Amino acid sequence: MRLFDTHAHLDFPQFDPDRALLLAAMRDQGVYALNVGVDLKSSQASLRLSMENPNVFPACGIHPHEAKVVGGEVLAELEGLLRRGAVAVGECGLDFYRNLSPRDAQMEAFRAQLRLAKKLDLPVILHERAAWPEFISALREEGPVRGVVHAFSGDLPKAQEALGLGLFLGIGGPVTYPKNEGLRQALRRIPQSRVLLETDCPYLPPQPFRGQRNDPLKVKYVAEALAGLWGMQPAEVAEITLENARRLFGVSL
Ligand SMILES: [Zn+2]
Repeated sequence: MRLFDTHAHLDFPQFDPDRALLLAAMRDQGVYALNVGVDLKSSQASLRLSMENPNVFPACGIHPHEAKVVGGEVLAELEGLLRRGAVAVGECGLDFYRNLSPRDAQMEAFRAQLRLAKKLDLPVILHERAAWPEFISALREEGPVRGVVHAFSGDLPKAQEALGLGLFLGIGGPVTYPKNEGLRQALRRIPQSRVLLETDCPYLPPQPFRGQRNDPLKVKYVAEALAGLWGMQPAEVAEITLENARRLFGVSL
């Protein structure tokens, strides 16, 4: 069974003690990962990880938390990195929950990255928290873009709105959390062809591992949860979502 974790942060310091071991285990177990940048430094690290590991693919982008540093120079540098073989722009988006950057700076950085994705004909990896209406209008105005709403945990109306824009939904550990019944109900009713697996590691571990560090090997628990919802075997979920990732990111696996 091959699994594709479409949202990992393997360059984060939480993996410093055992990164090489983890990457070797991923290769042994047929687990692929898309490593997602949150600023210029981690975007560079994504490119490096992908060069050293054939089962890791790179995305480069500026997270809304870092939006306050985005100006012409940062965007030019980001474009340079993206042209070195990134398969997606991201993560980018809006986070009005933590507001670590001012909202107007977030909006400007988000729109600039959507335009960059169109210019380079790349998909986007989207982060949204407590900003849904603003997020959807920016996408409508700057779109159409291809992409995935990462760590999607909304209900059916939100899922339908994202699908209506042609987006994929990235599903991770939260699908296993008891409180997320609305998400599970939505997932029973949307096309399986638009769902991607992810971990967001080191964050958002599946239910049995809450409070611990997450990693791409645990993406199988997400596949198991979806298998339960869709009435199929985890191997079929792995196959469908691998194919979806291949289609969105244009990677050959
Ligand atoms: Zn992330």
